[in-house]
Amino acid sequence: MGNFILMPKLGMTMTDGKIIKWLKNIGDDVEKGDYVFEVETDKTSLEVDALYDGKLLKIFFDEGETAPINYPVGYIGAEGEEIPPLPEMENAPAAETETKAAPAAAAPKAAPKKEAKPKKKIDMSKFDYELLVIGAGPGGYVAAIRAAQLGAKVAIVECDEVGGTCLNRGCIPTKALYTSAKVFGKLKHCADYGLSVSGAGFDWKKIMERKDGIVKQLTTGVAGLLKKNGVTIIKGRAKITDANTVEVDLNGTKTKHSAGYIMIATGTQPISVLKNVDKAVKINTTDDILAMQTLPKSMVIVGGGVIGVEIANIMSSFDVDVTILELMPTIIPMVDAEISTMLKSKLVAKGVKILNEVTANTIKKDGKDNVLELSNGETIKCEYILEAVGRGVVSDAFADMKLSTSPRGFITVDESMCSSVDSIYAIGDVTGGYMLAHEASEQGIIAVETMFGEAPTGEMLIPSCIFTEPEISFVGKTEQQAKDAGIPAKSFKFPFAANGKALTLGESDGFVKVVVDERYGEILGVHIIGPEASSLIHEAVMAMNLEATAQSAGHVVHAHPTLSEALMEAFLGASTGAIHM
Ligand code: FAD
Repeated sequence: MGNFILMPKLGMTMTDGKIIKWLKNIGDDVEKGDYVFEVETDKTSLEVDALYDGKLLKIFFDEGETAPINYPVGYIGAEGEEIPPLPEMENAPAAETETKAAPAAAAPKAAPKKEAKPKKKIDMSKFDYELLVIGAGPGGYVAAIRAAQLGAKVAIVECDEVGGTCLNRGCIPTKALYTSAKVFGKLKHCADYGLSVSGAGFDWKKIMERKDGIVKQLTTGVAGLLKKNGVTIIKGRAKITDANTVEVDLNGTKTKHSAGYIMIATGTQPISVLKNVDKAVKINTTDDILAMQTLPKSMVIVGGGVIGVEIANIMSSFDVDVTILELMPTIIPMVDAEISTMLKSKLVAKGVKILNEVTANTIKKDGKDNVLELSNGETIKCEYILEAVGRGVVSDAFADMKLSTSPRGFITVDESMCSSVDSIYAIGDVTGGYMLAHEASEQGIIAVETMFGEAPTGEMLIPSCIFTEPEISFVGKTEQQAKDAGIPAKSFKFPFAANGKALTLGESDGFVKVVVDERYGEILGVHIIGPEASSLIHEAVMAMNLEATAQSAGHVVHAHPTLSEALMEAFLGASTGAIHM
């Protein structure tokens, strides 16, 4: 039985290739390693070699024709052999190193956003501003600064403090508390380092003051940056009244502002799904936690997602008795299964109770306590309830505009972040997606560079980090996700226990897992649980962005002793072999 010659995937973003020249003719003998055809992609052109010996029996795509990746372009077999029929185009076989003539699963494709609409020339002289941004979170303020750097006349409307959820009620304040929790944990375990400290304790008020100080420093810095870049800050609540006009309400005084482009960056707010809650019961959000003046003795966290586990980690560090209720069978269900299991065991070891596939059916008040009747029949009491089940769009700014949205109300945008109305763009959490600060910022940059500069190209890889102990980070696909998408994937796991620096830090729990496409060594995903996971992941993002293979990334020299050697070893393990395992 012969073999199809497949159009190879020569880069992460390659979807098809054009046959420039056949280097063998039908009937020619072919030896493994012989060049058989020349291909041109959007980035390169090169010669493709044969993976098998035999005769070139059939050419399916002539010179000048384009074939999708992993689809047969020719057939090598024995003289007189019957050539099998071509698979359906949409069921192109997933190529193997030695591809047999048998159909297999389709090659995966990322669900792309709609292609950007062609840019129209706008007469900006008619408007007060070239760009008016609504919302000064990490999406909006970064977009405003970049647009100003590109020479645009920009205003930004904010009804609260600049910095948005990220600086005021999200990333930064939670990480300030996380750091206090981590340092306190180190103090408690200082004997492990041969140290002794007496009277280690904490002052919640001072921890909160430290957090507030960091937030203030950063929000002041952002306001200064906006000013320095010539961005006009308009205080008040904005509402878009037509495709180029925004009305701003500041304590009842309304002003109108026109702009060639309007950008919606209004973010999200906590949502609630709890039912049958007694009126006397207070259901708290993360906004409440971050303003909490005293620590409760006990806390139930409804939702075992990223925010739920981060808060559980912080609270349990300060001896709050924490219970997580999670509807799904695992906590942080979106991450690699082994990582989720490991985090669960770490939280449990800190005293956190985790109840999976459980929710609260009713919540009542009994004196000072809240009483939760759970779906598993149990009843638990606690002093404080945090609901962290997700966030919904802040929509008043665009409520009258009939923009196209998803069923959950997130604004639908194209590749350049343009909404269904040509002059209105939307970025950040209000468009859904990963709902992370760095995604919002990057989307803002893409949008304004499309408006005022060169539209950026290329895929946007978004790393995710979870600030627990140990930290978690990931980018790309898990092995399971890759396999579900029909990719022959394999993974390699390098433990921090085999990394010298992690041992010296006393933080050797965890691992780096690299997922690769078995055929080409393409890095499909990297998943880390361990020390400084949130910093280490960027090496993986860089490698994937630059389309390095696991082998080439593994051959990058890493200084010793460093945590990043664990990444190098994991890349090597997924290709030519790890050294220290
Ligand atoms: P936002 O930051 O929400 O900013 C929107 C702004 O618009 C707000 O300032 C709001 O006041 C303003 N606004 C809304 N409507 C109007 C209107 N009509 N007129 C005028 N102004 C308006 N992400 C990470 O990447 N890393 C983390 O560690 C992380 N931790 C988090 C922890 C918590 C507890 C939470 C809640 C979130 C966390 N996030 C984290 C998510 C991150 O905060 C968001 O992804 C990010 O802030 C979204 O940015 P944005 O610009 O889209 O919106």
